[in-house]
Amino acid sequence: MKTLYDKSVEGRTAFSFAFEGDTERALAAVPAYARSEVKRLPEVSELELVRHFTNLAQQTYCVDTGFYPLGSCTMKYNPKVNEVLAGDTRLTQRHPLDAPEDNQGVLQMCYELKELLADITGMDDFTLQPACGAHGELAGMLIIHAYMRDHDPRRTRVLIPDSAHGTNPASAAMAGFETVTVPSDERGGVDLAALDRLMDDTVAAIMLTNPNTVGLFEENIVAIAELVHARGGLLYYDGANLNALMGLIRPGDLGFDVLHLNLHKTFATPHGGGGPGAAPVGVKQFLASYLPVPVVVRRGNEYALEDDRPGSIGRMSAFHGNIGVLAKAYAYIKSMGCDGLAAASRAAIVHANYVKARLSAAYPPAYDRPVMHETVLSAKPYDKYGVTLLDIAKRLMDYGFHPPTIYFPHFPPFAEEVMMVEPTESESRETIDAFCDALIRIADEAREHPELLTSAPHGTVVTRVDSTRAARVVITSHRDRKES
Ligand SMILES: *Cc1c(COP(=O)(O)O)cnc(C)c1O
Repeated sequence: MKTLYDKSVEGRTAFSFAFEGDTERALAAVPAYARSEVKRLPEVSELELVRHFTNLAQQTYCVDTGFYPLGSCTMKYNPKVNEVLAGDTRLTQRHPLDAPEDNQGVLQMCYELKELLADITGMDDFTLQPACGAHGELAGMLIIHAYMRDHDPRRTRVLIPDSAHGTNPASAAMAGFETVTVPSDERGGVDLAALDRLMDDTVAAIMLTNPNTVGLFEENIVAIAELVHARGGLLYYDGANLNALMGLIRPGDLGFDVLHLNLHKTFATPHGGGGPGAAPVGVKQFLASYLPVPVVVRRGNEYALEDDRPGSIGRMSAFHGNIGVLAKAYAYIKSMGCDGLAAASRAAIVHANYVKARLSAAYPPAYDRPVMHETVLSAKPYDKYGVTLLDIAKRLMDYGFHPPTIYFPHFPPFAEEVMMVEPTESESRETIDAFCDALIRIADEAREHPELLTSAPHGTVVTRVDSTRAARVVITSHRDRKES
């Protein structure tokens, strides 16, 4: 595959204008912010430039071109109507510094989104400011920190299960807490006896994900909530993956006091694309005075920004958060309706269990119990043929599929060589079957022709790459690239 530099021919340009004088003089009139000294740039024609980038774009794998079973990320296809509505110029042309009286539509949307999310989660109030899951966790932890400072300053520690997403301990530590790990039991849930030992009057909260990071529902959640509350702690819910619960169960009803939701997973913005996200944080009423300011409120028929919350942890972002992502979530929830959201969760759960059932002979599940929206499967049986999970994932690309999540840092220690597959509700039975067929065929190949896997992928533009070289050999200029 040639780079633009490879295609460069001295003297070629991507424009030609009929200048009055000569080109040199015309270019001299280019404004002062243009670079004074131009390092060597590729010299190509406009058509070559267009073809280069169009061809590159067409090699990009995305959810619009194929199945994206990346566990923990909910890379589901979302209806385009949400994009269209969020892209409406009546929204995109608003300025965040518009006076609230001139910005009633945006504020009304924010207020109604808070109400919808409160309804879906069983919480009382929300902030829409945080820009991603980890940012939402930080906001939630700061709220708990402020609350404990006012009510019980001895509580300086936060309990976190060993299966938790890595952002959980990081957020708790950033908010000023000491973190303590709670082990999992053999069924993949929180070890209740260990929790009982650890839960003392130095503990401010426990951070939990449910379904947890390996796709299992925490069966003892009510007992956990009772134990933690009885000993004066609070419950934080990492709601990054609400795709198995929306419309079915409300975290607020399970006993959680604070939560964040990743709108850029479950609510119509895909995760992992590197684009903007939004992680609203919801709280029960007794914590509402700590929410970041300004809070969007309704006064009669008017919507306003309330700054006057003396206990507030302060701003979490500029302006109102990522409005485009909030608008997509609003459009999605309104267009799905309550029954639609529940149907989506049910389909996500059925699809994950279907994948588990179809693949469990070839790839033994890490836990032998029903899963929620994703399933963890092992490639350990292919060890003896010299085939790793990485080889299987690479080979899957030859069959036209994006690999699932592999070697997730939070997989339990006993679960070696495991992948996490999240099929999502949007995929058809045919697509899921084709994916399972491919993985089963790859398992046969592992036994019969392991070399096909260890050198895969073969049919992609870029074949097997050295995964660590990019971090070790840093290229800062075109010349380095030629020499390396
Ligand atoms: C994705 C995820 C997060 C982090 O969300 P970001 O938006 O990537 O910061 C936190 N917890 C869980 C369980 C997740 O799946």
